[in-house]
Amino acid sequence: MQEVSGKEYDFVIIGSGLGGLACAYILASEGHSVVVLEKNHQIGGHLQVYSRDKTIFDTGVHYVGSMNKGENLYQFFKYFQILDKMKLKRLDDEKFDVVRFDDGSEYAYGQGYDQFIKNMTGYFPDEKAAIETYCDKIKETCSKFPLYNLQASGENYQMDSGIMELNAHDYIASITTNEKLRNVLAGSNQLYAGVKEMTPFYVHALIMNSYFSGAYKFVDGGSQIAIQLSRGIRNFGGKILKRKKVVSAQFNEAGEVSGVVLENGDIFRGKQYISNVHPAVTIDIFGDERFLTVYRNRIRNLKNSISTFLVHLSFHQNTFEYLNYNIYQHHIEDVWGGIDYDQETWPQTYFVCTPYCSKNGKYADSMSIMTYMNADETSQWSHTRHTIAEPGEREDSYEAFKKCKEAQVLKRIEEVFSGISEKIKAVHSASPLTFRDYIGNKDGSLYGVMKNSASPTRTQINTKTRIPNLHLTGQNISMHGILGVTVSAFVTCFAFVDKDKLIQKVKNA
Ligand SMILES: Cc1cc2nc3c(=O)[nH]c(=O)nc-3n(C[C@H](O)[C@H](O)[C@H](O)COP(=O)(O)OP(=O)(O)OC[C@H]3O[C@@H](n4cnc5c(N)ncnc54)[C@H](O)[C@@H]3O)c2cc1C
Repeated sequence: MQEVSGKEYDFVIIGSGLGGLACAYILASEGHSVVVLEKNHQIGGHLQVYSRDKTIFDTGVHYVGSMNKGENLYQFFKYFQILDKMKLKRLDDEKFDVVRFDDGSEYAYGQGYDQFIKNMTGYFPDEKAAIETYCDKIKETCSKFPLYNLQASGENYQMDSGIMELNAHDYIASITTNEKLRNVLAGSNQLYAGVKEMTPFYVHALIMNSYFSGAYKFVDGGSQIAIQLSRGIRNFGGKILKRKKVVSAQFNEAGEVSGVVLENGDIFRGKQYISNVHPAVTIDIFGDERFLTVYRNRIRNLKNSISTFLVHLSFHQNTFEYLNYNIYQHHIEDVWGGIDYDQETWPQTYFVCTPYCSKNGKYADSMSIMTYMNADETSQWSHTRHTIAEPGEREDSYEAFKKCKEAQVLKRIEEVFSGISEKIKAVHSASPLTFRDYIGNKDGSLYGVMKNSASPTRTQINTKTRIPNLHLTGQNISMHGILGVTVSAFVTCFAFVDKDKLIQKVKNA
């Protein structure tokens, strides 16, 4: 199909990650004509799944929070009319996440503040006051973010240095001298690839509060969010087109985008354009000269979060019991230290979860282990590219590298689950290059642009750009994660839809 300058859409959206799809849904449901252009063979960006040996593996979503009745993500999913179509599995109330240390000691987070405080004061009876102070601070911090509380407006938290400049590590250290408690409270910091000197407390608070408010896994994979959203978009007349890689743009005399150009030369025209692609890549697509040098330099110099080496194990049938919680394993005492790993001791910190498979409830058919990995570990193969939509060759040395890293991870996981190796049927892995190629960012970063408590304004990216009809959405805007990206989509759409009415629709959903 060639679509050259035929229809002019109200909105052309580049990328079908959750951000792109959520914008498409909001705008299509308001009566606008919308087309989403996705470079991959599958929609969803990080929501994509892949299947090996009849086992489905998630690539970038393991669990979500805020799914208790009336909580923010619950309401957003209701607004999208996907809530009742989702297959979800609630994690254990007493233990949805476990922070585990090298000596085998385990500290379970419970759902809801009462259960969380009960668990923590059980482990640290002398620290009740510090634990309660910590919970109160999380609640107070979250209350400052209007959209997070489904409010259309409120005080401008971005100007509040007490929020933006408060560092997560420093705050937690300020409430207790108990080193173990400090590490336990920050123990799931892989959720935001926490960096001691950088991560703001508000990032920690928004995410922790969300998981306290209803932690669920997706049954049979997270791609159902993308599938259900796309059905809604199509019902409203929106189009989602796969294998459509946007490579450049055309402009009119007023400096507005007049069309985006695909790799094969096709052109899609719209009145407005929304990029769900990393802002640095967006600049490459739309052209350096269209942005101010200072903006370009800022965006390109922002630190992205570290990447990951993600190992997927599939098990022999009925050999490994399903875990209805996740594990944050630390082989070092300082939970902020695993991100600065060395080759000999890697992986020192990793996330473990067993996806819930409907056909096999009691037993897990797979396990995901998410470790940290710097993109420069795979830089010698960065000239190679490979996705299903754009098949390419990777060298044998790259496969050997992956096998070597898989073996290191398996050695570690055997320390946690003795005898697990005998239960493993197959091992697959994804490296920083896999994420770079499938997501289309520059370095396979886990969560995109990192927030920084030391210079908060530098890391804030506006949805509006200097190009009048080009807007941004996705994880680099408000926050990463299913909730963060959903909020970003609403922020993007406020430029086109009455904010108060839209939020009222979410509340009334
Ligand atoms: C390993 C991992 C685990 C995670 N686990 C969780 C979790 O458990 N819970 C949670 O809430 N969050 C999790 N996240 C984060 C969450 O998945 C992401 O923050 C979120 O999905 C990002 O959505 P996005 O809208 O920014 O788009 P992305 O997912 O980044 O998608 C961008 C899309 O744009 C497309 N694209 C790029 N370039 C082009 C182009 N030139 N033309 C056309 N299309 C293009 C890409 O192919 C892609 O589909 C995880 C992330 C990772 C990496």
